Amino acid sequence: MTSRAIAGRHSSQSRHQYRHAALFLCLIAVSFLAAVILGFTAYGAQMNADAYDRYMRLRGPEPGEAERAVIVAIDDATLHVQGRWPFSRTIQAAALRKICETHPATVGIDLIYSESSEGDDALAQAMAGCAHLVLPVEPVMTGDKIKWQRPVGLLAQTATTFGHVQPDADDDGVHREVHLEKSASGERFWLLGFECFRQMQPAPGGLLEEDDALIWGPLRIPASRQSDRALLIDFGPPVRHIAFEDVIEGKYTVADFAGKAVFIGQTAGGLTDRVITPFSTGGVTMPGVQIHAQVLNMLLRGRFLNRWPLSATFAAQLGIVALAGLALYYLRGLPLASAFVVLAAVVHLAPYFLLLRGEVTPAFSLAGAFWIPLIAGGGFQYWTTWRHFVTADATSRRLRRQMDFVTHEVRSPLTAIEGSGELMARYPMDEKRRKQLSELFVRESQRMARMFSRFYDVERLLTGEIELRHDPVEIGGVVEAAVEHVRPFADRKQIELQVSIENPGPTRGDAELLEFAVYNLMSNAVKYSPERSVIRVTAASAGGRASIEVRDQGPGISREDTAKIFERFYRTDDAETSGKPGYGLGLMFVREIARHHGGEVTVASKAGEGSAFKLIVPNK
Ligand code: ADP
Repeated sequence: MTSRAIAGRHSSQSRHQYRHAALFLCLIAVSFLAAVILGFTAYGAQMNADAYDRYMRLRGPEPGEAERAVIVAIDDATLHVQGRWPFSRTIQAAALRKICETHPATVGIDLIYSESSEGDDALAQAMAGCAHLVLPVEPVMTGDKIKWQRPVGLLAQTATTFGHVQPDADDDGVHREVHLEKSASGERFWLLGFECFRQMQPAPGGLLEEDDALIWGPLRIPASRQSDRALLIDFGPPVRHIAFEDVIEGKYTVADFAGKAVFIGQTAGGLTDRVITPFSTGGVTMPGVQIHAQVLNMLLRGRFLNRWPLSATFAAQLGIVALAGLALYYLRGLPLASAFVVLAAVVHLAPYFLLLRGEVTPAFSLAGAFWIPLIAGGGFQYWTTWRHFVTADATSRRLRRQMDFVTHEVRSPLTAIEGSGELMARYPMDEKRRKQLSELFVRESQRMARMFSRFYDVERLLTGEIELRHDPVEIGGVVEAAVEHVRPFADRKQIELQVSIENPGPTRGDAELLEFAVYNLMSNAVKYSPERSVIRVTAASAGGRASIEVRDQGPGISREDTAKIFERFYRTDDAETSGKPGYGLGLMFVREIARHHGGEVTVASKAGEGSAFKLIVPNK
């Protein structure tokens, strides 16, 4: 086995880099998928909704046009005077008459009249006096069918039109959008607030219903048919309330109602018609009638909130993941940190600035596209850097050991060469002596070269730089080859080699390294055994494991030493003093080879009684 042979199998640096890049790319791709999928989970949807609420509050209410709607509120003060709701319809009629005398542009009533009651005639009369009156309808279950319930009897006949008063909440109970359209039992109604707007600002061409928008005159309302005409509510400042009681008592001016959209509804804290909105912090809810007024104001403003389509979200997520990936891959240290701060700021601030322009983004999904690759890719890069550091650290320690080794082991042959060289230079010398010294140079130089290559091989095997083969190997053949290698040395010491190969079977691995291991055990046996002794080599298989035993009649090894001889550079005192050459590396090499094959090497010995080394590898 030569260093060159081992070097040929060295995994190249560029292949390693390529693998690292491919792995990193996979990780970034998986991060992208994870970010996309997360957005589709219930958790992701809720987080996106929460983020929307937060950005909404940060932006604050959309200003403008609040003055064109007014709410006549059945509030706590009114209930205090008039008693429990529902109170007398005659009184309601009186209030309504006063309101309509001021000529409001439209009146939308968000009060349910499902049963007839005393005073209906008066109320119907008052309603009839209102131009552009929008009355509420409610879906109710009758039997197994949902039907629309209009106000009772005469009241319904006074309406210009009807509007539904059920602005549905999202799954989490928050009202972020309204469904402009609602159908049941083949009948369809538009939201009360929308109907009031239509009364207030008529469009000659009527309502045009496109798939992704409603067209009302010059106004394009981005509410798609598929979503039941869902429209995000761009909440403005609260629409002004005038207490119903104040209307009864005449505490208002004509200008309070004239030309305006007047909504009449309940706002009292104790009544149920209150909803949660993105602005509901600290349990402050909004009266349902406000929603209609808010929708009307938004329609008057003519500016809407548009949700990003999925394609835009995917593209943005892809862009963010790609930027995060590129930064992680190409940048280090301060540039990397700066890039991430900038990217984080962009990703987290963009939804706010887009919201200012009326664009609604799934902010959590976008943030996910930033944080997921950052954590996954960053973790990966950290891990590889750490591994790199560990390898570099091991390399530096190895280099230091090599230096120690060189100073420790190489000094003696160098001293010999130096001394002899000086002798040759200084004194005249006969040819025979000169030849002797030259041979010494060659021998010592070769010894050093061998020593280096051996040391180098061991180091590389230990650090995993050598890639092992994984071939089928016949163990019998390996032993025979090793025996043939060692035989000349045994013959020189007239040592008898008794070899018995009893079908040790196959294993998988590296034949060359295995042969080298067996050869090492045998050459040690030859080296440390006395002349004319016997070395028995037995190869057999039992219990799925092949064993190769090398038993000699040498000096043996003491109990304490058997634990240490596999350590690097360890030689027994006997070996050191005997003058037999060696570096204390062979057995460590054997042990590493055994380990790399999933096996082990053992020794049984008693001082003075010879040693038995056994290399065991699994049959495969
Ligand atoms: P080296 O033989 O080059 O010193 P090894 O790692 O092969 O290094 O062996 C380590 C030590 O183990 C040897 O120095 C020797 O003391 C002891 N040893 C190895 N094999 C035998 C053996 N067959 N009989 C006695 N001692 C042995």
